[in-house]
Parts: sequence; C-alpha cells; structure tokens
Amino acid sequence: MLTAHLSDGKTLNLAAGVFQPSSLHELRKTASFYCPVCQKPMDLKLGSIKAFHFAHKRNADCPYTGEPESKLHLEGKTQLYEWLNGQTEVLLEPYLKELNQRPDLLAAGAAAIEYQCSLLDQQLFDKRNAAYRDNGYEPIWILGGTRIARLSSSLFRFSAFHWQCTRIGADHFRPYLLSYSPGSKTFLRLSHLIPFSKTSVFARQEYLHLDRISFKSLLSPPAQGSFPFKNWAAKVKKHRMSPHFRLSAEAAYLKNVLYNEKSIPFSCIPSYAFLPLLSGCCFESSVYVWQTRLLLWINRQPLSCFFHAEEAVRHAAMLVTRRQLFIRRLPHWTASESISLPVSDYLDALSQLGYLQKEEEKYKKTGKLNWRGDPEALIEEDQCLLSRFISECDLAPHIN
Ligand SMILES: [Zn+2]
Repeated sequence: MLTAHLSDGKTLNLAAGVFQPSSLHELRKTASFYCPVCQKPMDLKLGSIKAFHFAHKRNADCPYTGEPESKLHLEGKTQLYEWLNGQTEVLLEPYLKELNQRPDLLAAGAAAIEYQCSLLDQQLFDKRNAAYRDNGYEPIWILGGTRIARLSSSLFRFSAFHWQCTRIGADHFRPYLLSYSPGSKTFLRLSHLIPFSKTSVFARQEYLHLDRISFKSLLSPPAQGSFPFKNWAAKVKKHRMSPHFRLSAEAAYLKNVLYNEKSIPFSCIPSYAFLPLLSGCCFESSVYVWQTRLLLWINRQPLSCFFHAEEAVRHAAMLVTRRQLFIRRLPHWTASESISLPVSDYLDALSQLGYLQKEEEKYKKTGKLNWRGDPEALIEEDQCLLSRFISECDLAPHIN
C-alpha cells in the first residue's frame, strides 16, 4: 500500500512525490503508521527493490485483504496517480467500506481503477465488478505492462481474463483493452478486437505515452482506424495450408459435417467464412467454425424462400446448446445478445457481398454460395473477397 494514517489521523501518501528518502528514514524513527482500513500498525518499507510502501505486520488479519503488490504494481499505481492528479480529483487506495473494496485509484468520485498485474480468479473478478457497478462506480481495469502475449505484429493471445478486462467504447460493438507499462510510461490500447480462434485475436494497437494523453482520451478509442487486413489474410492462408492436428471438439465436428454434406476437406472452407466482423468477438469458437455452421444452415434453406434473421439466430442458439458452438463470456452483452449480434451482422455482410438478398429484414439465397474443393483457387478467392469486403461492406472495420 502507498497510503497509511499517522497518529493524528492524517493520511501519508507516498505517491504524492514530496518525500525525500532521507526524510522518510527520519520519519520512520519517530512516527507510527496505521492501516486506513483496520487501524492496525503498519511498517514503512524503504527497501531498494520495490518502491517505498506500507505493509501490515505479520498475521495482521485485516478485513480488506488485497493481493500482494509487486514492484510493477506499486510503480504503475504511483505513476497513474500522478498522471490523474493533474486532470481530475483522484484518491489513492480509498477504502470503500460499503463494498469492502479498495480500488487502486478512484477518479472523479466514480471511476474505480484497478491496475491489475496478476491474474484474477473469474469468481473474484465478477464479484468485484458487480460490487462496483451496484454501488454506482465504474470499474476500469488496466493490465500490468507485461501481461498481454503478442503472437505476431498484430496478433495477440487473449485468455478469458483479458476479455473480462475489456471495456466498451461509445460505440457498442467495440470492446478495447488497456494495459500500462511503468518502465516506458506508456499505455497500450488494443481496439478493433477480432478473434480468429479461441485464443488468438487481431487488434489495432496504439502506444500512448502518459504525458501525451488525457484520461478522457484514453477511454475514447477512435471509431476509425486501420485494421491489419494483410495479416488477417495471411492467417487465413496459413489455415488453408497447415495440417489440422489439434482441432477443438466443435471444429472436429464441423470437419465431419463438411465431409458428409459437401464432400470437401476442412482446408476448403469457403472464403466468406473468414469475414473479420467486430461482433465476431461474441463467439469463442473460431471465426470459420461459426460462420461455416451458419453457411451450412443457409445452404439448406430453399432457393427463393425468404427467412428471418431470428431463424438463423435460433439455429445458432441450438448449436450453442448442443455444444457445437461456443459463445464467449463478455461483460458487455447477455448470452442471447452474444448470439444475435454476430449472426445478424454476418447475414448483413453476406447480403452486401451479394450472397444473400435482403428485403425488409428478411433474407434469401441468391444462388451464389458455392463449395469448392480446390485450396489453390480458394486462396486466390480469399484475397479478392477480403478486398471486396473492405470496399463494399460497411461492417468491415473502418480504415482511415
Ligand atoms: Zn489493515
């Protein structure tokens, strides 16, 4: 902790930046420090490895048990406090008694900022988030700088924890993730998050130096921005060229369905089952799995008969119930929204690309859906289709 009470009840804030090490060494000889939560005595730690901080004495049994704080956590918290201090009213480690929570920072009386440098158990995360929201606070999770694994220049490995920590911008379909590195004093903001598979996610990345961005701007990622389409296309190509040894259960199931219904191998999934849609983050199953399952359903509809989007949504919901598709647990949408959003977007994208005809919220096949067994030809088609998607489809992630 960076704050403690003194004998006279005043708060000593080590992040305030006014203390010389020598004066703290002097103070430690004469003063006593108390935990603002349990009022038990604390030690002032003035070591050389971690930032200066307060710690409970052994077996202190404080009702607020936070996680142990690393060097990274203490440094990041201090820097974020100083940064916010010039912009808005900010409290360091305030104890919110009604929630028994102690966010790292509370900005403008409402934004509970958690600088999270360690993984948090899902249940604990849900409990904390709900407690903040129920009491009128807005939780903002900022990850410690080293916690996002990069797979290639624009591809990242996300766990369920990362998705939990995403926020939604003013536009509802754009979750983004924030992390902060105290070493470089830089935020990493990942937006336009479009997963390719359960764990790999393409993202637009921005590095934002602490001195050059405001709190308000940090929380407002631009709606427009380049998406790494080239890398997406390369990933699709790699998917077609690589052998598929370790398929997920739902992908293995799809492989059989494709073979039985269409007599095509798994590498010949149609090009339009790889559309990078922003709402695709709602599905945990790989992009080509959920899109191909919908294509197979569309294919079974009679030519020249209209169907409603709800029918396709119901089919996807049934596949979810049967565990042939998986939705992602996201804090922003309900389970039913997590199915209807991407399914509706996908039908609209197929309409804009000419594979479906849309009239008054109903769709019908145009006869252009086809299933080909030639991977070489498909790789060429992937390129053409992605170009058309970018230029003709308003659901494509926007480019500058
Ligand atoms: Zn305490």
